[in-house]
Amino acid sequence: MKNHLFFLSALILTACQDSSYNKIRNYLDTIEIVDTHEHIQVPGDSAAFHLFDKVSYFPSDMASAGLPSYKADNKNGFDPEKVWEHFGKNYNYSRATSYHEQFMNTLRILYDFDKPFLEKEDIKPLYDRMLANNYRNYDQWFAEVYKKGRFKTMILDQYWDHFNTDIDTSYFKLVCNINTLVMLVSEAAAEKKVTNEQELFRLLKNREVSAANLDEYLSIVNSVLDIFKKKGAVCIKNTLAYSRTLYFEDISYEDASSIYNKQGELDWAERKKLEDFIFHHIIQQAIKLDLPVQIHTGYLAGNNSRLDNGQPMKLLNLFLRYPKVRFSIFHGGYPWTGDFVAIGKNFTNIHLDLVWLPQISKTEAVSTLHEMLDAVPYNKIMWGGDVSWIGDSIGSLELAKEVVATVLSERVDKGWMTEELAIEIAGRIFRDNARDFFRF
Ligand SMILES: [Zn+2]
Repeated sequence: MKNHLFFLSALILTACQDSSYNKIRNYLDTIEIVDTHEHIQVPGDSAAFHLFDKVSYFPSDMASAGLPSYKADNKNGFDPEKVWEHFGKNYNYSRATSYHEQFMNTLRILYDFDKPFLEKEDIKPLYDRMLANNYRNYDQWFAEVYKKGRFKTMILDQYWDHFNTDIDTSYFKLVCNINTLVMLVSEAAAEKKVTNEQELFRLLKNREVSAANLDEYLSIVNSVLDIFKKKGAVCIKNTLAYSRTLYFEDISYEDASSIYNKQGELDWAERKKLEDFIFHHIIQQAIKLDLPVQIHTGYLAGNNSRLDNGQPMKLLNLFLRYPKVRFSIFHGGYPWTGDFVAIGKNFTNIHLDLVWLPQISKTEAVSTLHEMLDAVPYNKIMWGGDVSWIGDSIGSLELAKEVVATVLSERVDKGWMTEELAIEIAGRIFRDNARDFFRF
């Protein structure tokens, strides 16, 4: 009986190792990753660190569960009892989410943590190791984690500093996030100058920037884009859904100029028109500079947000008006995933980025990727990790690899595609498509 059992388990193990899932999954661990989107930052001040604050996204699930805000006070040392007392209940309610799974992936792969979730006694030892890695040894830790993920490069969206061009190009590629340039136009119109944007002044090497009329403001925009292009930026990024709707109306130069020339404060509708005009102008510059445009669509990170801002269909007028621009739209457009796929299928100038979707909902990522492969040629599908801390880039990548291997192996197992094709598609999603799209 014992022999039989041994034989049976050996058989099952061999079958599992030979499964198409494992073949695809193992293949993905052999290739270099071209990561289309990250926000990786240096962790900052360790005094506020309490474990949960350096996990990308997951704190929003605990907040959604009912967690009150928390300010760490490590003056008398880190107190795991206090942390668990505050977080424990809502942590437990959030243990089934994909954000949590990303967190557990990170802990499993980087910290050999082999439990499915945290308990009170796990907090202190993990805190100590994370403190050492992220604050006392960051450069070495960063390099190790980056290498472990086999990242080739990461496109870095510095949402905390839109005008910084000084990045480490051995790890990152520069992107020009244009949110500030768009939103600043109303203030510039009211003041007829830009007065309060230190990072912009530093970039333009100027202490105050005149913007007496629309043309002067447009020349500021052009200068910023030119500088970024010269510094090696690979694309333009729009994350304006966090501040406003993605519907950018086509406003004539004359209308924009007369709004700009008004004296005093502008109303909401006037401000929107100016912003719309500026984003159209930026797209026109993107054509001249041969820069693709990434646009955040769908869900918004955090809590209590205007989720309807990011509906992908709000962008149709731009896609139709600028067929020469290479757009990449983000996040599966979640929850408008069907709209997202339809846009990718229909438009010759639009690529689709799965970025962040596996973390928002792993199940939705699986079903959306199936739908994408049904409807969209696979040279148009990319992936980015979209996290703030280097450790999480591993948890995020792991989640995405599982999603892609699951979808492709299901299709192989049903006889919908060959294993060779599945392997080709896996490599395309995590490496080749981004290289072709961004041309590096
Ligand atoms: Zn992002």
